[in-house]
Amino acid sequence: MFSPRDLATIRQKISQSGQILITTHRSPDADAMGSSLGLKHLLEKHTGAKVIVMVPDSFPSFLDWMPGTQQTVVFDKNTSEATMMLLSADLIFCLDYNHPSRTASMEKSLREAGATKVMLDHHQEPDNFVDYRWSDTNASSTCELIVAFMDAMQWQQTLDKNIATCLYTGIMTDTGSFRFSATTAHTHRIIARLMDTGIRQWEIHEAIFNQNTFEKLRLWGHAFLNKLELIPEHKTAFISVTEEELKLFHFAEGDLEGLVNYALSIKGMQLGVLFSERAGKIRISFRSVGDFSVQQFASTYFNGGGHKNASGGSSSLTMAETILRFKTCLHTFLNENPPRD
Ligand code: 5GP
Ligand code: MN
Repeated sequence: MFSPRDLATIRQKISQSGQILITTHRSPDADAMGSSLGLKHLLEKHTGAKVIVMVPDSFPSFLDWMPGTQQTVVFDKNTSEATMMLLSADLIFCLDYNHPSRTASMEKSLREAGATKVMLDHHQEPDNFVDYRWSDTNASSTCELIVAFMDAMQWQQTLDKNIATCLYTGIMTDTGSFRFSATTAHTHRIIARLMDTGIRQWEIHEAIFNQNTFEKLRLWGHAFLNKLELIPEHKTAFISVTEEELKLFHFAEGDLEGLVNYALSIKGMQLGVLFSERAGKIRISFRSVGDFSVQQFASTYFNGGGHKNASGGSSSLTMAETILRFKTCLHTFLNENPPRD
């Protein structure tokens, strides 16, 4: 939440800026893109400034239908121009990330940028690198916070179908289609407001979930058949895929999105993990149900973080070494944090 004084300053900054950047985390997901594009459309109605969405690396192609994606600047693809934009912006919004390191190659310029920085985020342990911070770790999504920000700015009348389409998408995906525990009655009230604008929510679900490619389904088939393992004593299921396997199945960005949830969906599991090798590094996705804090686990052992039941991290070891280390850490962690039931 921003104080009335902070809001007044931010409002003034918005109206006086020549260039406003909206930034989000690397490997942007639908909440990252939805909140960024939703805020862009919102701001454009309230400022004469140029409003640009900048992402560290490419967003998955299954999001390319979202209103405004075509104008998005990808830092890694246009580094010198993007660096200039960061350094010359008057105002920078930092959406859906809690720490500048989450912007990968963009971090250095982001830190150097002299612009006023405003964070809107729902991840645990928010860093203090910004001038104004709205961190709500109970919020289902950053898109939900954009609605809260819109209300705080008294911009309710601005909400239209384009904005609502972007925001609906992020709330829907970050709540696992309104299933996860962060989904509240308040979330549903916001969804009702978004639907009142006349969005076609079935088309959004269709655009997100029914876009599989032949290669992706074959990759998932391979993952389930050959790469799914259980640690029954720790109620854990994990999947690992190497770079070579990804190549074999013509991996495209976003193809592994959601796979980790299937490990967790096995009856009786409390932890699901996906290890995937990208550019020689192992990326790890953790999902849990109940008390098991994967945020704590990822930040303690795998240089990561996120939310209590959904987090990520990384490892510079080989795949085999990473899995071995994971098993040891899991054993230690569960001894130190025994499940309550
Ligand atoms: P995913 O598994 O979908 O990549 O990430 C799950 C959640 O954990 C997301 O909310 C994401 O922002 C967070 N997360 C993923 N990787 C990292 C990481 O390396 N560091 C931190 N702090 N959070 C991460
Ligand atoms: Mn999010």
